[in-house]
Amino acid sequence: MSKIKVPYSYLTTQFCKEKRAEILAAIDKVAKRGDFTLGRSVGEFEEKFAALCRAKYAIGLNSGTAALIAILEALEIGPGDEVITVPNSFIATAAAIDLVKARVVFVDVDEQYQIDVSKIEKAITGRTKAILPVHLTGCPADMTAINNIAERRNLYVVEDAAQAVCAEVDGKRVGHLGIAGEFSFHPLKNLNGWGDAGAVVTDHKWLADKVAKWRNHGMKNRDEVEFFSVNERMHSTAAAVLNCLVGHAEDITEKRIANAALYDELLKPFHPHVVLPPRPANKKQVYHTYVIRVLDGKRDELQKFLLEERGIDTKVHYPIPIHLQEAAGHLGYKLGDFPNCERQSFEILTLPVHQYLTKAQIVYVAECIADFVNMQK
Ligand SMILES: *Cc1c(COP(=O)(O)O)cnc(C)c1O
Repeated sequence: MSKIKVPYSYLTTQFCKEKRAEILAAIDKVAKRGDFTLGRSVGEFEEKFAALCRAKYAIGLNSGTAALIAILEALEIGPGDEVITVPNSFIATAAAIDLVKARVVFVDVDEQYQIDVSKIEKAITGRTKAILPVHLTGCPADMTAINNIAERRNLYVVEDAAQAVCAEVDGKRVGHLGIAGEFSFHPLKNLNGWGDAGAVVTDHKWLADKVAKWRNHGMKNRDEVEFFSVNERMHSTAAAVLNCLVGHAEDITEKRIANAALYDELLKPFHPHVVLPPRPANKKQVYHTYVIRVLDGKRDELQKFLLEERGIDTKVHYPIPIHLQEAAGHLGYKLGDFPNCERQSFEILTLPVHQYLTKAQIVYVAECIADFVNMQK
């Protein structure tokens, strides 16, 4: 079989000479104006991004992690409080909770890699302040069930939507389905910048105002400081880059969805060696990652085969659950506490699904997986 290269990263294609010229011109405008901190480009991006999320407010920060911490700080979540989240996320989700000195309480995940809503109630105590679902892979968590529990138990819902720009539940965009949501514009996220950036999205003015002050030294205005705080503003240059890209977010999303649909169709026959997550009709998934499960203990072997024999670059998001990381030692969790998450960490494999893949590349990836499955028989 002819070997087609299928790289995981697409950044050199996305930022081709033509696109770079457009972005460099936008950065040049910032430099000409000299408004490097909270300049015009930041306000422009916040407006565009709020509109994209169909939210009232967006506040730009210098990373997704900073945005998550800003939300928790604005909600006055801190020592003595507990926040419920998942152990299969990127490390930043749990880190943000820990860094505001609240306790991270994990709940296991379901077949969609989302928080298992049937296990949330049992994790709630008198100290619980918030539920923090992560729309991992770009698949929204079950927000209706989560909001119902939160309402009954008087808890905040904070969305980690870092991987889920444009994702929807029942036709509503994520990020402001709870009190607030966090997005990341890391270079490998669906809406990506040149370096780090993030945003908080909310429909609540008081929260937007508080986050806006939090990221900027707690300043009410040029001279008056309401509270001691950090400097985690979105850079004007980062916003200028994002302003060149935000208009493409819907297109990028549709391409990723189409790529995922083709994979779904081509890989379905290989069940149960290759397991696809359920695709509920009320959720619009945006496929930050396209994650299959490889059973029979063959994940690592398949990954090696695809890379070394077929030139296909895949990843694992993430091989070590957060509760088993050294960093989480003080939380007191152990192997066996979250069986679904732990099992999945040995089975999950992320296939390239980015917007620059050709149909031929996707067909080739599926054919190579088929070859591997057939070789096992
Ligand atoms: C990327 C990511 C973050 C953190 O975003 P940064 O911009 O890298 O700080 C948080 N949570 C999840 C689920 C992510 O994927």
